[in-house]
Amino acid sequence: MGKYNKVTAGILEELKGIVGAENITVDEKKLKDYSHDEVMDPHYIYMPEVVVFPETAEQIAQVVKLANRELIPLVPRGAGTGLSCGATPIYGGIVLTTDKLNKIIKVDADNLYIEAEAGVLTGDVQKAANDVGLYYPGDPCSGDSCFIGGNVATNAGGNKAVKYGTTRHQVYSMEVVTPTGEITVLGGRLAKCSTGYALEQLVIGSEGTLGIITKVTLKLAPQPPSVVDLLAIFPDIDSAIAAVTKVIKAGVKPTCVEFMDGRAIRCVEVYLKEKLPHSEDGNYLIIQVEAENDEELDDKAAKIDELCTENNAIEVLMPESEKIWKIRKSVAEAFRHESLVQSNEDAVVPLDQLPSAMKAMVGICEKHDAVARVVSHAGDGNIHLCIMPGTISAEQWEEKLAAIQDEIYAVIYPLGGRLSGEHGIGYKKKHLLGKYTDPVELDMMRAIKKALDPNLILNPGKLFDVQQ
Ligand SMILES: Cc1cc2nc3c(=O)[nH]c(=O)nc-3n(C[C@H](O)[C@H](O)[C@H](O)COP(=O)(O)OP(=O)(O)OC[C@H]3O[C@@H](n4cnc5c(N)ncnc54)[C@H](O)[C@@H]3O)c2cc1C
Repeated sequence: MGKYNKVTAGILEELKGIVGAENITVDEKKLKDYSHDEVMDPHYIYMPEVVVFPETAEQIAQVVKLANRELIPLVPRGAGTGLSCGATPIYGGIVLTTDKLNKIIKVDADNLYIEAEAGVLTGDVQKAANDVGLYYPGDPCSGDSCFIGGNVATNAGGNKAVKYGTTRHQVYSMEVVTPTGEITVLGGRLAKCSTGYALEQLVIGSEGTLGIITKVTLKLAPQPPSVVDLLAIFPDIDSAIAAVTKVIKAGVKPTCVEFMDGRAIRCVEVYLKEKLPHSEDGNYLIIQVEAENDEELDDKAAKIDELCTENNAIEVLMPESEKIWKIRKSVAEAFRHESLVQSNEDAVVPLDQLPSAMKAMVGICEKHDAVARVVSHAGDGNIHLCIMPGTISAEQWEEKLAAIQDEIYAVIYPLGGRLSGEHGIGYKKKHLLGKYTDPVELDMMRAIKKALDPNLILNPGKLFDVQQ
């Protein structure tokens, strides 16, 4: 990596001149809040030297130019809800937050799009669309706390990716500050485009390493007239997962197909302190479908009920949507309530490989005496495995976890899978990306990084290391 300099008193004065004295902090207590994302394991905590809160793309461009001139590492940050240490300042330097880029610029109901600054809460984008009778389908479980710019930077997935795709499928265009401090707009409000490289797609999911997103133009959809959530309960993981491909193939075009295993259900039950259906013997599939009218919706619900029942379901319920989603969205907190020491895997496999992948992942944890809790955006082959130490001692945990992860990805890659379906690589999974990625592909990524960020100042040390 590059050799970086420290933030001096002179640089702090220049930063104040750019963003204003009120938009900068070196207060030790405040800096601590920016020393990690949602991963709070002490191994992954790194203090920034200064945090800046710019209000415009022009200010950001000036900060980036200063960081280049002085060789100071610069870490873009959204709301800090990331799960891969992407926004953690591992080399110190400047953390640049988008908190103050928080305006919704325009909602165009006639032409189905919204323009928002990067620091707008994803939930507020959804609400602004709803207010004009439209729909923003990006729906990560962290929607109430993450920023839309963070979603674009990580290519966030979430619950509705089965039908609507991930964040990259919602983006028309975006304003970006490049790693050398130029401001540009990538992409366009176009239904199709074959005009050169799709650079907006390169920046989407680049986790703050190829540019700072300052503004996004996103597609909106018409509100689905009728929606229903079904809760199908299965006696074992295999029957539940086998039903996933059947539901997808049945032509009902589900919006969501989410899975929770029995142990995850019981963990949420303890956390919410309320009895959940079949918590003692069930594994859940939460299936949402949309339709043009109630009749079509009834037909789709009946078809799903039939398929799940044929596939061994104990019961197919139609509870209030709010109740189901409260259960699903409480998972992260419930797991944390069970154990603060944990590792969250985010493997993704082709849909037909989901049963083998899930079985292998759980089996590997059991073999090592680790506790495994599984939830999955099953409809898009994305498995969130929460691994907790259980009876493994604190001294043995790191070593065991590394062995478990190694064994897991040694199974996932030959199945055609990858390390991350939606959370990204960040700092936490960099060693695994290096181990499992084709060296030619890694070299292509490094070449792009070097070409766009010759001083290697933008979010250095994330995804992979690069030598100058
Ligand atoms: C309870 C919980 C549930 C979650 N559920 C989901 C889920 O369902 N689906 C999912 O995909 N994720 C989920 N996440 C993970 C997380 O919320 C997403 O990764 C989210 O997109 C991160 O957004 P953020 O604003 O918090 O970004 P941060 O955590 O601040 O940053 C994430 C990465 O993006 C970069 N970045 C942030 N903003 C910008 C910008 N403007 N320009 C350039 N780079 C930037 C950072 O450098 C970092 O690498 C969940 C997290 C939690 C805690």
